[in-house]
Amino acid sequence: MIIWTEKNQMVRIADKVLCNMCGEEIKAHIEVPGQFEFAILRASWGYGSQHDTQKFQLEICEDCIYRRLLPVLKILPETTESI
Ligand SMILES: [Zn+2]
Repeated sequence: MIIWTEKNQMVRIADKVLCNMCGEEIKAHIEVPGQFEFAILRASWGYGSQHDTQKFQLEICEDCIYRRLLPVLKILPETTESI
């Protein structure tokens, strides 16, 4: 969960990021694109689903991804390295 600070009606700044899974604050360099230390999971449910029109976003810390989420998956995601 990203906690936003409203600077004015046009500008809001990300103040801090809390992990949706453990609730802990995540060290985040959100002002630098691509420098996240958390995963962003987005859902946008479409026609025919039980949650049609609903959207949400989760921010999950690295520790929760590797210790809590990945172990319960039956199929692991493909991992690639970026330089
Ligand atoms: Zn966490």
